[in-house]
Amino acid sequence: MSGVLLSGGVVKKCRKTHRCYWCDETIMEGSRYCYWTWVGDNTIEKVKCHPECLDAWSDAAEGVGRVFLSCRGEHKRGSTDCK
Ligand SMILES: [Zn+2]
Repeated sequence: MSGVLLSGGVVKKCRKTHRCYWCDETIMEGSRYCYWTWVGDNTIEKVKCHPECLDAWSDAAEGVGRVFLSCRGEHKRGSTDCK
């Protein structure tokens, strides 16, 4: 799947829990996270993840926008290693 990075990378405090796209662990209420919007061929995905997972993601992809979304939840938190 290919797509375009539309916006995001902003870190803020969440008011409810979310699930991290990278590691599939919970992002706790009140903690910071990163989010962005990805536009694919037929979809718009809103992606959220831990800041440390965004770092790992960037390392793996040389830029967040280049990673396919099919990698959802397959990685260890804050690491490029797969589970
Ligand atoms: Zn994570």
